[in-house]
Order: sequence, then structure tokens, then C-alpha cells
Amino acid sequence: GAAVFDLAVIGAGAAGMMCAAVAGQRGRRVVLIDHARRLAEKIRISGGGRCNFTNRDAGPANFISVNPHFCRSALSRYTPADFLALLARHRVSWHEKHRGQLFCDESSEDVIRVLRAECDAGGVEWRMPCSVEAVEREAAGGFALRTSSGVLRATRVVIATGGLPVAQIGASDFGLKIARQFGLKVVEPRPALVPLTFDAAAWKPFVPLAGIALEVDIATGEGRRAAAFREDLLFTHRGLSGPAVLQISSYWQPGAPIVIDLAPGMDLAAQLLAAKSGGRQQLGNVLAGMVPRRLAEQWLAATHPGQQAQRIADLPDHTLRQLAQGMQCWTLVPSGTEGYKKAEVMRGGVDTRGLDQQTMEARNVPGLHFIGEVVDVTGWLGGYNFQWAWASGAACGKAV
Ligand code: FAD
Repeated sequence: GAAVFDLAVIGAGAAGMMCAAVAGQRGRRVVLIDHARRLAEKIRISGGGRCNFTNRDAGPANFISVNPHFCRSALSRYTPADFLALLARHRVSWHEKHRGQLFCDESSEDVIRVLRAECDAGGVEWRMPCSVEAVEREAAGGFALRTSSGVLRATRVVIATGGLPVAQIGASDFGLKIARQFGLKVVEPRPALVPLTFDAAAWKPFVPLAGIALEVDIATGEGRRAAAFREDLLFTHRGLSGPAVLQISSYWQPGAPIVIDLAPGMDLAAQLLAAKSGGRQQLGNVLAGMVPRRLAEQWLAATHPGQQAQRIADLPDHTLRQLAQGMQCWTLVPSGTEGYKKAEVMRGGVDTRGLDQQTMEARNVPGLHFIGEVVDVTGWLGGYNFQWAWASGAACGKAV
């Protein structure tokens, strides 16, 4: 007599808890399984400990997928306003940072507490820590799960084991393995929302810029794959970081260049040429009036050594144009990313063309569902990945 559940949810993170709570509150008998010792570590560490739990303006355009329309249905049926209503019912206060990013006032623990309470309200049973060794289809229908706490039987199984980033806190490739076991296609997974790295020798001239932060335009790709953001950039000793680079990293293809405008919205060439008539000023001082002083100084030292103290009037037009072009169309080819240890999210994952967009169920395996980050739907930086976890979890929980 192994227990028989309507639903076994594997992974008690953002998507898994939402799904279990919604299904449980609809009267389904749900078991929620997680191999971690501490509940929902990724929620806990998210948003610097305050959890950027959604984005007020989240919509399909903020997500990356081989199949960009897939996310539309779930996102429209569970919106940021729905999540805010949930927080309000549990008296969790929050604030907006910028660009619609919503954070807890107190702590990300509030979000974990809300989800746990919602699971309790749905009578969800827990198995944690518990690892799943195998998932098999039973001849009579449904699934048998071989786990560290015995065999569990369930009519339906939901895979909510998340993405590959940050293995130290429980990330695993379990979901991708199950997908392959059951014949689903997987879009090649890669680290995303991750700092980019550069060849050490090529980066050397820019090492002195480490610590400089400023708003830039950043772009990569061509045609239908083109992406562009205006966000803050941070120079580090090893390369580039900050929101601008994290955003573009989700679109970057290995070997492709990224293009950065260090003076967005300005026409540096025109301004430098106009400054020539001012006469006596030094190039370094003129440039420092247009971009942050440390950037002006270090950029000139790296790219135009010896010219910083020259009078701008003495410099030929083409030198100034070249300087402006270099800063506004800075083109560089990253050597790679800092990988899953530093990535906030995984791009790629279970190919959505094998899933039903209403129920998140595998088309070729009735009763097997995939939700959250393990699916090939990747949000921008700014609360979008949690919104996908809530929306895909709720869609599945309502459907089963
Ligand atoms: P998760 O929340 O990762 O949950 C997966 C669960 O499955 C885990 O509890 C794990 O222990 C369990 N699991 C894994 N393998 C197994 C297995 N084999 N057996 C049993 N259980 C298993 N997104 C935002 O929108 N806003 C943010 O502020 C934000 N900040 C972030 C900060 C950091 C440092 C990181 C790494 C990510 C951040 N993200 C943020 C991304 C966000 O955390 C994830 O996209 C989101 O948690 C995905 O939800 P999920 O339920 O799919 O997976």
C-alpha cells in the first residue's frame, strides 16, 4: 500500500509551492517533494535577501524562448496583480524600486512564509528532505516515484526542480533528465543573467576601470535575434557586470560581439568638435564634462595614452571622431560567462513545443507536467523569473 496522490510535485521552490498550493486548495491530494534541507533557498537569497518577487509590467516581451508565444497564456491568467493580492491577504508589505521591480519591505522570508501557508491551506503533504531516484509510468496509469522515503504513487507528476544555477543550494539537472527520459526535447541550457568574461590579455588595458558604474546602452545580435537595453554597467577586474551585462548575457551567443554606448543619448563627436573652438582646455577635462571623470581619465589612458593633457584645439578632428566612436560604439567579444556559479537563471530547458501552454503538460506523456525555470522560458532581470514561476505554477495547479 504505497500512498496514492493526485499530484506529486518534485521541487518545493517558487513554482512548485505555487502549483501545490493551488491544486491542494482545489481539493487535490498533493505531495510536495524536495531534496534540500532548507526550504526555498533560491527565494531566500533572491533580490539581495528582499526577493524581487515580480515586475509590475511583466508581459511576454520580457521573456526569452525558442517559442516566444508559449508563455502568453499562463502570464495572462496569473498576473503581477494576482501575486500582489496574495501578498496583501498575508499582510506582506512591499515597495517598488525602479522599472516596476517589486521587493519585500522586510525580507524574502515573507514570500516563503506566504507560499508555505498557502500549501498548508491546501493540505499539501511534504516529503523533505527526500530525493527522487526514479520516475516511472505504471501500466495501470499514473506514475511510481522511487524516493529516499519509499515509493510514492501519483496520478500526475509535476517537475518543478528549477534550473542549473547555484548547485551549492540544491540546483540539479533532474528536470532535464526526466524530460529526456520521457522523450521530450531540451533546448540547450546555458547560464544567463550572468557576468561576461574577457580574455585576460585583451582586458588588461581596462583593468584600471574596475569599480566604475554608469548607465549605458548595450546591444548584441542581429535581425530577429537582436537585443538592446539601457541599464547600469559595472566595470570589474575580470570584465563587465551590472544589470546591463546581465540582461545582454541572456541573448549573447558565444563568439558574437556586444556593443556598448558609454554616453547614451549623446553625440560625443559633435560635442568634442564643438569644444575645439573653446581653445585652451585639455582633452581629459573636456571629456570629463561629458562622462564620469574616472571613466574619462582611465578610458583615455587605456585607448589614447599621452593625449589626456593635450589641448583639445590641437587635436585633429579625426582623432576626436575616433575617440567618440570608440566610446559610443565600443565593440568587444566576450570569451565566455562566469557560469552557473554566478548565473541568476538558466536559459534553455524543456522545449515548450512539447508542452501544452494551458496546462504545462507534456503532449506525448499525459500526466507529466513541467513548470518554472526548468522550462525554456527565461525572464529578464527584474522580477520576471519569479513571475514566470508563479504563473506557470498556477496554470498547472488550476489544470490538474
Ligand atoms: P527553484 O525556486 O530553484 O526551486 C527548485 C527546487 O527544486 C529547489 O528547492 C531544489 O532544492 C529542488 N530540487 C532540485 N533538484 C531536485 C531533485 N533532484 N529532487 C528534489 N528536489 C530538487 N528571480 C527573480 O524574479 N527575482 C529575483 O530577485 C531573483 N534573484 C535571484 C538571485 C539569485 C542569486 C539567483 C540564483 C536567482 C534569482 N532569481 C530571481 C531567479 C529565481 O530565483 C528563479 O528563476 C526561480 O526560483 C525559479 O523557480 P523554480 O521554482 O523553477 O525553481
